[in-house]
Amino acid sequence: MKIFRLPEQCGAILFDMDSTLYTHPQYAQSQIDLPIERLARMRGVSFDSMNKEIICWRKNWAAGHQGQQISLANTFAAFGVSISQSATWREELYQPEQYLSKDKLLRAALEELAGRHVLALVTNNPVSIAKRTLAVLGVDDLFHALVGLDTCGYSKPHEEPFMRAAMLCGAAAESCVSVGDRYDIDIALPLQLGMGGILVDGVEDVYRLPELFCDRSNSI
Ligand SMILES: [Mg+2]
Repeated sequence: MKIFRLPEQCGAILFDMDSTLYTHPQYAQSQIDLPIERLARMRGVSFDSMNKEIICWRKNWAAGHQGQQISLANTFAAFGVSISQSATWREELYQPEQYLSKDKLLRAALEELAGRHVLALVTNNPVSIAKRTLAVLGVDDLFHALVGLDTCGYSKPHEEPFMRAAMLCGAAAESCVSVGDRYDIDIALPLQLGMGGILVDGVEDVYRLPELFCDRSNSI
C-alpha cells in the first residue's frame, strides 16, 4: 500500500472495484482475455494474434505517454469498439459469481469505514457487473453511489467518473480519497483533482484501511 495524500477531513472514499475489493488474478485476467477473444472473433483473427496486437498497441501508447497505462476500454475505443459497446460486452462476458465469494474481512472493514465516511464505487465495469460483484462479496448495501462505464460513458482515468462520484456523495473533491490498485487509472487523476489517493496491492490492504483512517482522525 502506498498513501499519496489524505485530506484533513475525509468526506467520501471512492473505491475502485477490480483487484481492489478482491484479489483474484485468474478472474482479473479473464476480464482482459474475454473481450479480446470477442474482438478477435469480430475481426476474424485468432485470439493470440489479437492479444499480441493489443499488447503492442498499449506498449506503444505507454511509450508515447511517459510510461502511463491506458485502460482496456480506452484501448478498445482505438480499435473501433465504443465505450458503450465495451460495457455491453462486459455485461455479457463477465461472471463474478464463478470466481468470488463472501468476504467477511472486507465487510468488517467497509462497515467500519461506512460508519464514518460515505463510500462510493468508481469502476470501469458496467454498473450491473458492479452490483453482482458487490453482492457476491457481501458488501452491496454499504455503498452510497455506484459510477460505472455504462452510466458515466467515460473510462477511468477521466475526471467525469471521479467528480460524479464526489457529487453523488455530496462531498467536495478535496475531501474525497480514491482507493485503487492502478496508479495511472485510479490515483494520478484524483490527485490532480485535489483528492487524496491510496494505491493498494489488493483487498488485503483494504482490510487495513479502518486503522489507517482511524489513526488519521486521532492525529488531527
Ligand atoms: Mg482495479
